[in-house]
Amino acid sequence: MRATLMHRAGDVRIENVPDSVIKHPTDALVRVTASCICGSDLWPYASMSPDGGPARMGHEFIGVVEDTGREVTTVKRGDLVVAPFAVSDGTCGFCREGLHTSCAHAQAGFWGHDVPDEGGQAEAVRVPLADGTLVKLPVAADSALVPSLLTLSDVFGTGHHAAVAGGVNARTRVAVIGDGAVGLLAVLSAKRLGAEQIILMGRHKARTDLGREFGATDVVVTRGEEGITQIRELTGGHGTHVVLECVGTMPAYEQAFGAVRPGGTISRVGVPQYEAAPIGFASLFRHNIRLAGGPAPVRAYIEELMPDILNGTVEPGKVFDTTTDLDGVPDGYRHMADRTSLKVLIKP
Ligand SMILES: [Zn+2]
Repeated sequence: MRATLMHRAGDVRIENVPDSVIKHPTDALVRVTASCICGSDLWPYASMSPDGGPARMGHEFIGVVEDTGREVTTVKRGDLVVAPFAVSDGTCGFCREGLHTSCAHAQAGFWGHDVPDEGGQAEAVRVPLADGTLVKLPVAADSALVPSLLTLSDVFGTGHHAAVAGGVNARTRVAVIGDGAVGLLAVLSAKRLGAEQIILMGRHKARTDLGREFGATDVVVTRGEEGITQIRELTGGHGTHVVLECVGTMPAYEQAFGAVRPGGTISRVGVPQYEAAPIGFASLFRHNIRLAGGPAPVRAYIEELMPDILNGTVEPGKVFDTTTDLDGVPDGYRHMADRTSLKVLIKP
């Protein structure tokens, strides 16, 4: 079968690999019908050294179950399913608390890392712990809702997690840093949770226009001190109760603690590309700022978010502005890296 492999920074290839097959009684084999490229795939695309590759890519997909191990009970051959970006058993203590990204099962973890021989940007995937990981979709594989349902695998759940971890509710003013797919869906999620003011910080007009459509009340195009000043001007001088940091760089973090209001929360889902960051008197401590966020347990949110997609209340699939087949995946990475594509949908 064919799959996407990253050999090093800037070098993504479609290659023939051994067919995915059932290995454990709890596995399912899924033929991928829709997948995509993630903003987080762009970190290795920018920096992976040759000894880091070749690595299987892709952690967001929808597909049809082709086969199941003998212990799988919740999905069966022919079902259309969505897979979250993390594998989880659904039964351990962490999963029961809704933190599926910390699942204690030995086979749990992330595609590509903990499940090294599988990836969503491929024709098929062996899904470990299928009962805990996969969710059946009540539509056909060619449904117009597939792009929006595909965002349940990562970006919608991740934007929602940012908002939930930040404590967004109807009484909060929210700033969202980043106009990538996650930032835009953090806007949608904050709107869905009733935030009274949502300020989107981003510089690409087509993207911030979509952000307004998703619920942003204000757009700030400047960054750094100037951007922080604008946030304060828009909020009576104090900043926002919550900042959703959806970029992952140190300047974005600095912008977050500059824009947050005393007693407020910075919630990070942009995968931080730093280990050391200011947390002392001059940054977080002086005004009781909380730091929240982490890898989103998107599996915990699928049942909650899916009805709003099925009934048309939200259309998170609008973040996909490009569709390609597997052969177009290397170009898809290029176009997302140079920001000519917001998010690329793959039809293998
Ligand atoms: Zn678990």
